[in-house]
Amino acid sequence: MKLYEFQAKELFAQGGIPIPRGRMVTDPDGAAQAAAALGRCVVKAQAHAGGRGKAGFIKLASSPDEAKQYAAGMLGQTFKGFLINRLLVEEAVDIAAEYYLAITIDRASKSPIMICSAKGGVDIEEVAESDPEAIVSQVVDVAYGPWDFQLRDLAERAGIDPKAGRQFVDIARKLYHVFVRSDASLAEINPLMVLKDGKVIAADAKFDVDDNALFRHEELLGFKEEAEEDPIEAEAHRQGVTYVRLPGDIGIMGNGAGIVMGTLDLVTREGGAPANFCDIGGGASEETVRRCLSIVLMNPNVKGVLINVFGGITRGDAVAGGVLAAVKSLDVKVPIVVRMAGTRAEEGLKLLEGSQLVPEANPVEAARKIIALAKGA
Ligand code: GDP
Ligand code: MN
Repeated sequence: MKLYEFQAKELFAQGGIPIPRGRMVTDPDGAAQAAAALGRCVVKAQAHAGGRGKAGFIKLASSPDEAKQYAAGMLGQTFKGFLINRLLVEEAVDIAAEYYLAITIDRASKSPIMICSAKGGVDIEEVAESDPEAIVSQVVDVAYGPWDFQLRDLAERAGIDPKAGRQFVDIARKLYHVFVRSDASLAEINPLMVLKDGKVIAADAKFDVDDNALFRHEELLGFKEEAEEDPIEAEAHRQGVTYVRLPGDIGIMGNGAGIVMGTLDLVTREGGAPANFCDIGGGASEETVRRCLSIVLMNPNVKGVLINVFGGITRGDAVAGGVLAAVKSLDVKVPIVVRMAGTRAEEGLKLLEGSQLVPEANPVEAARKIIALAKGA
């Protein structure tokens, strides 16, 4: 489960990490009121994606009227596929430096790892490419948590201003505790800001909680309800369909997590961008296929759908029947390529001939076809 910035900052504040004063609002008038209380402020669209600054979804406002205008401009818009219906209005700050600090799980050491850079404020992926030496890390032994000397060393290696060192160590230790206490899989502060007056604060926050641990976090359930507002994901959940939204424009369906992930990779490698991850499961019936397809098509970004099925217990002809029935009842306007192999695949592909569906036996060809068709659509 991904938390919104304002939720993550709530957790940070509970853990003693300094954050800017601010308020979450859902309408322009709320933004104006917040601005009246805060003075010069930043209006920040809340979305489960970064890079808002560059895209105009973070604006500096010097009056309540201006905050209201910016709020009206952002609310109801989509940013990277997310509908903006919440804003965080925060006091504007005078920035002296922007650092990066994060904790995630390191698969190699099977431990939390703290990652730090003095080059914060920008995409850390960019830094990783252009200047990998600027990113340093420290694996944490969960039996003890991070030792202060390790955190001081981390700050030193990253090139953090020594004057900010004490605050940095304090925040890093607290971030670790919030991370562990919440069963998080990611806690990221970018930028960790040094203000002109020397104070260090978490100016942005990203926080993912491990879904498998949610049962023991009643305190996070309120966040979950708010987070589940993607109407398509909520509908998929209700219908028992495994569906994950992605930022691209090609709908992906397959029978099993493995083949779906393989198909995502295939489409990406051929230059396409998947719009979702949708698993129809094993032995999928016509009805299941219909349900999945209707959910995939709920996303208006979808310009084409690739269905990739390997028949084991799932029969190709049943899937083909399901897709045909679904297309008939759903008024599908986008191209659909169906790739099949395995049990009754030939029969399935034959069933599709003469319909609007494009049968294809070769998976790479199928990916290329749907990418080309989606571009034309
Ligand atoms: P992101 O672009 O979605 O990651 O959003 P951030 O919260 O990280 O903000 C992007 C950038 O806005 C920061 O790196 C700052 O350089 C800039 N910025 C300018 N003034 C402010 C301010 O008062 N508060 C915050 N949070 N960011 C500011
Ligand atoms: Mn950021």
